Amino acid sequence: MFALGKVLREIFYPTRCLSCHTTIAPSALLCLPCRESLLAQLFLNAGSRECLHLDGIYILFRYEDGVKKALHGLKYHHRRSYLEQIAGEIQGQGIVAQLRDTWELCQAIFVVPIPTAPQRYKQRGYDIPSEIFCKWTSQEELIWYPALARNRDSLPQYGLNKLARRHNVQHSLHVKRNVRGKVILLVDDIFTTGATMDEAGRVLKQAGAAAVYALAFAGNAGVTNNTKSTERG
Ligand SMILES: [Zn+2]
Repeated sequence: MFALGKVLREIFYPTRCLSCHTTIAPSALLCLPCRESLLAQLFLNAGSRECLHLDGIYILFRYEDGVKKALHGLKYHHRRSYLEQIAGEIQGQGIVAQLRDTWELCQAIFVVPIPTAPQRYKQRGYDIPSEIFCKWTSQEELIWYPALARNRDSLPQYGLNKLARRHNVQHSLHVKRNVRGKVILLVDDIFTTGATMDEAGRVLKQAGAAAVYALAFAGNAGVTNNTKSTERG
């Protein structure tokens, strides 16, 4: 019955590309041309963007057009259906091979989601990083490892400047599982200034993590072309 409902919904309300509104497969967020134009696949070196506690950063999509609409819909308009579509965009991009290759990682990778503030979880009813990365983690045979927790409710980062963002997240996270000697891949929906990811990197390294990398579904890529690029910094 559920599957039939899904089929009927697709007939009457087909899934549309969030950028250009053409009809697309239900598990996708973007049509092929829009996906190609928004894919960043950007690798940032250790210490880039003042993130001194991260060994590398990977940004999958540019935070623009349909990608921006999807994250806004999830954060502010309860568009829960976007979770599955974003998860669909993350799967099948060959991310793990790229990460292992670029960062020369051959050991086990522990995937640690950035925890959502309890207050915002209560408002939304879902935790975006877990919903969009958990399935991908098991498909890729990585280890899902929620090792971080919030100390307190920090203010939403949206609307704060760079300095205020750093101050806002200071001491907002703690490590709740053993991370000693482990290679960590932090995952989050968005990388803007990287303040939260960097604070996560700081506490994880303090707890003995061997290396901490960051992966974001979207971010300010700082490039306008759609080629795979590396920013030196
Ligand atoms: Zn499109």
